Amino acid sequence: MSQTLRLPDFRFPVTDAGYVLSDLLTPTVRLGVTGLSRSGKTVFVTGLVQALLERNAVPEFAALTGIPGLKVYLEPQPDDDVPRFAYEDHLAALNGAEPHWPESTRRISQLRLTCEWPAQDYARRALGLPHRLHIDIIDYPGEWLIDLALLDQSFAEWSADALHYAQTSADPTIARAFLEFQTAHPATEPADEAVAIDGARLFKAYLAQSREVEPSRAILGPGRFLLPGDLEGSPLITFFPLDVEKDKTARSGSLHALLERRYESYKTHVVEPFFKKHFSRLDRQIVLIDVLTALNGGAKGLSDLEHGLEGVLKAFRPGANSWLSLLLPRRIDRIAFAATKADHIHLTSHGRLEAILEKAVSRATDRSQIAGAETQTFALAALRATENVDKVSDGVTYHCVRGRPASGEKVDGRTFNGTHAAVVFPGDLPDDPLQAFDPDVARVGQYAFTRFAPPNRTAAAQVEHDGTSKPKPWGATLGAPAPGVDVGSRQDWPHIGLDRIFAFLFGDHLP
Ligand code: GDP
Repeated sequence: MSQTLRLPDFRFPVTDAGYVLSDLLTPTVRLGVTGLSRSGKTVFVTGLVQALLERNAVPEFAALTGIPGLKVYLEPQPDDDVPRFAYEDHLAALNGAEPHWPESTRRISQLRLTCEWPAQDYARRALGLPHRLHIDIIDYPGEWLIDLALLDQSFAEWSADALHYAQTSADPTIARAFLEFQTAHPATEPADEAVAIDGARLFKAYLAQSREVEPSRAILGPGRFLLPGDLEGSPLITFFPLDVEKDKTARSGSLHALLERRYESYKTHVVEPFFKKHFSRLDRQIVLIDVLTALNGGAKGLSDLEHGLEGVLKAFRPGANSWLSLLLPRRIDRIAFAATKADHIHLTSHGRLEAILEKAVSRATDRSQIAGAETQTFALAALRATENVDKVSDGVTYHCVRGRPASGEKVDGRTFNGTHAAVVFPGDLPDDPLQAFDPDVARVGQYAFTRFAPPNRTAAAQVEHDGTSKPKPWGATLGAPAPGVDVGSRQDWPHIGLDRIFAFLFGDHLP
């Protein structure tokens, strides 16, 4: 379809050919969004897209993108073989009469946003070509990054590491069934598919349980055992680590040979294609991290976090001669690290949260000796579910948050069902970020973070009510339940930090 763009001094028809040309001239920024399971990727992508599309209802975005004539719209994504990010479904979950958090990321997905604004230069105006920028968002599980390490490891090396971790679990019962099975099946026994299937199932169950009990073990892979995407049931993930100390060379027809072949196929058919096809084409990256949960694990929680960050940084900025550098023709030049769910804590602690993450990132950067990428840390709540409330008790001011605790959450001994609001004192983060890393100061479980239901934005801005027409003050005691209310209307998108993150990641591409 051809159309005519009217300019004050030029009248050139913009034909299909014009748009094809414009498409060729349109720069594309590919943003990778990653983080471990439940770190907040789905909510972040939904929130960012919503804030851009409805920027007039999000004051910070209206100010940030105040480009005269700016249009932002969704377009068909460029890669037909990658599932589309289900933005509309996720938004519907958050916008429903009974809002609920959307379904989390389980595989890679993609979405294309296009920003368009009138041409300012003579040549473009003469040709009737507006400026455009494609933003391709690629959401993928952080668990898949774990596999990077496998590229440099043989089956024997990986097996030795994996068995060592299993044997040193904090809770030995978790790995027992798998280790007993593995011991009962020596590497030299004849290959048997049923053994491969049973062993893989037990290994997978142990990995999943292990990360529940010890969050630091979340970085144990292979990644597809945790989030298989569309590989569920595939022979590609039907293997497990074997003790091959005494059987260094796999004999043809042995269990060792079968599992080694599967392991190598996993690398060739799963890991390499992911890095080549998706990862290597990223320009910018955001890594979402549940720092609050790490903080609640005391100094060890943060040291585990640093360890995980080191691995992530190595993936994004591989050393010049590493395996991965051969796979990556270009390198990511900006990486945002975001501490998600910042609405679980009071405004006064947001800067402290950023400072703690900043420390963890810079220490990991020093240790992994990577350089060249610009990094910045942020406190983020892609959809803010709480408000800040100060409560005074016995002359002491407590910095609290108020929201609707999610169904099943306990506050002050009371179990919530997701409909009533409560005022919660989560604790104040330390002023000096180093205290969070100090084993003598940082204790396990020292904070009281509550999971909140998403805000109910169908209710227009209102104050808490007790059923009469008289507004009621905030909850009478810390953690006291109160009738469920939320602030704002459906267009509003309350958040913390989305605009700053957008400016860091894309600001240099906008006028
Ligand atoms: P993913 O697995 O990385 O895709 O994680 P999700 O985006 O699905 O988020 C996991 C869970 O974290 C959600 O179900 C929410 O409970 C919580 N969550 C994520 N983002 C926010 C946020 O901005 N505020 C609050 N309060 N909770 C959030």
